[in-house]
Amino acid sequence: MERDYTPVSAPEDPEIAFCIRKVDSGIFTPLLSTAEIGTRFDISMPEGYFTFKPSRRPPVFVATGTGIAPFCSMVRSGVTGFTLLHGVDSPQDLYYQLKLEPVADLYVACISSEHQSPSEYFRGRVTDYLKKHLPPAKYDFYLCGRREMIREVTWLVDERFPGSLLYSELFY
Ligand SMILES: Cc1cc2nc3c(=O)[nH]c(=O)nc-3n(C[C@H](O)[C@H](O)[C@H](O)COP(=O)(O)OP(=O)(O)OC[C@H]3O[C@@H](n4cnc5c(N)ncnc54)[C@H](O)[C@@H]3O)c2cc1C
Repeated sequence: MERDYTPVSAPEDPEIAFCIRKVDSGIFTPLLSTAEIGTRFDISMPEGYFTFKPSRRPPVFVATGTGIAPFCSMVRSGVTGFTLLHGVDSPQDLYYQLKLEPVADLYVACISSEHQSPSEYFRGRVTDYLKKHLPPAKYDFYLCGRREMIREVTWLVDERFPGSLLYSELFY
């Protein structure tokens, strides 16, 4: 059984850390969540290209759920000066908020569920926030998370933010 995971730790950290959501209908994560401490897993060398590329355009990070992982890693490696939108169903899923909010130029928690959420959160999806509140300009967009979010934000960037660059990492 093989699954992909993105570390939240930085390459230079002495230990590797992950943020993994248990998918009840899944195969691997229910096993992982009940594995005894000491259970052995094989981990291959890291692969992929979703890394921070400094440029003159302001970076906008957009994550859904555990898609926050690569941005934690980038921040641990010293990246600052970014806008971060984190889209989740409810505030309890705002992983790493306390670490990310203080170093972001702008941190926006987008809560999509109907339930009552504190007023400091944006009520809606990350796409709603981008449409209504991100000023028109050329940005470097970094997207990580669900396929639907990546598809919708890609369309939106084409439409509203011409001249921007877009990097994406699809989790599921
Ligand atoms: C490049 C890459 C990096 C990834 N990094 C992470 C990570 O850091 N943390 C993490 O939690 N997952 C990450 N994933 C997703 C991960 O690889 C697994 O798909 C996930 O853990 C589910 O595995 P499973 O065997 O339990 O479920 P599966 O049996 O593989 O899938 C069951 C169903 O659950 C859906 N599903 C998969 N992930 C989720 C999810 N998070 N929420 C809701 N439904 C889901 C699948 O689309 C499928 O329909 C990453 C995927 C990729 C491709």
